[in-house]
Parts: sequence; C-alpha cells; structure tokens
Amino acid sequence: MSDPKVLISEQTIAAKISELAQTISSDYAGVEDLVMVGVLKGSFIFLADLSRRLTIPRSVDFMALSTYGNATQTDGAVRMIMDLRRNIAGRHVLIVEDIVDTGYTISYLLRALATRHPASLKTCVLVHKPDRRKVPVQIDYLGFEIPDVWVVGFGLDWSERYRTLPYIGVVEPGD
Ligand code: 5GP
Repeated sequence: MSDPKVLISEQTIAAKISELAQTISSDYAGVEDLVMVGVLKGSFIFLADLSRRLTIPRSVDFMALSTYGNATQTDGAVRMIMDLRRNIAGRHVLIVEDIVDTGYTISYLLRALATRHPASLKTCVLVHKPDRRKVPVQIDYLGFEIPDVWVVGFGLDWSERYRTLPYIGVVEPGD
C-alpha cells in the first residue's frame, strides 16, 4: 500500500501555521486569555502546533461533534457528543477546525457557541474546500484552499487511518 500523495508538505504547513500564529497573536494583543476551541478529533494536531506558536495568553478546550450519515456524504445534521469544560461567557473564543467542506459543522458550532455570549467568536481553519461549500461560513483565519479531493494527514483521517501523517495528502483510488 502506497503512502498518500503529498498535497501540502510538512514544511509548507509549518510555515503557514507560524504565519497564522503571528497574525492571531497580533490581533488578540492585550486579550487576557484566548480560549482556543478544538473540534475532535481532526483538529488536535493543528491546535497543538498553532497554540504553541502563539505569543499571547491562551488556553485550550475541546468539543466533539458527530455528523449523521457516512463520512463523505453529510446532510447537514450535526450533533454535539462532548461539550466544553469551561464557561465561555465574556471570553474571547477562537474555534480551531481542521477542514471546512460543506460548512455545516462550523456553522453549527458558531451558532451553538454564540448563544453562550462570548466576548468575541472567530474561526481558524486549516483547509477549506470552496467547491463543496453548501452554506455561507465565517472563516476568519485560513491556512489553505484545496480542490474537491479527500485529504488525510495532519489530524485528518480516512476511516481512522493516516491521521498522524505529518503532511496533508490525497488518498489515491485503490489505496
Ligand atoms: P463539513 O462538511 O461540515 O464542513 O465538514 C464535516 C467534516 O467532514 C469535517 O469536520 C471533517 O471531519 C470531514 N471532512 C470533510 N472533508 C474531508 C476530507 O477531505 N478529509 C477528511 N479526512 N475529512 C473530511
């Protein structure tokens, strides 16, 4: 079995995360505690790298969501299976997502978290597939736009495989 073909290399991802971290650190300068919300499982590697490169006070919390239907076809129904540990009322919150595809997941999250009255609510997304988007989404910080292909690595899986690949790759048919 061959390794997935490289779409975005480890070095390119690292450089982009440093750039995002600089921008975010400067945008949130003066904020006492930025709450970074990672969406499990896919965002854990991106969140680990991004959070360590910020130069502002920050903390990390997680949510887990599940989409109804199978992995590649979703109809937009999203369900929360693990909530945040902390109350975010009055805090600055940054949602950190691995990928925006149809946009249903992030728009659900934005709606769910907005009802908790954070001081601010923004999103940071590593990869976006604009061709597949079904609902308008707010992406405040974006790593990469990619074509409509199934990507793996850097937290992203294919039936739980390839999640810990250090780069973003494409699974070839027949792999
Ligand atoms: P949404 O369609 O709601 O924007 O994204 C739903 C979820 O589908 C993402 O959070 C991610 O878990 C998964 N997903 C969408 N596209 C891909 C992809 O190319 N690769 C992987 N591994 N997961 C994806």
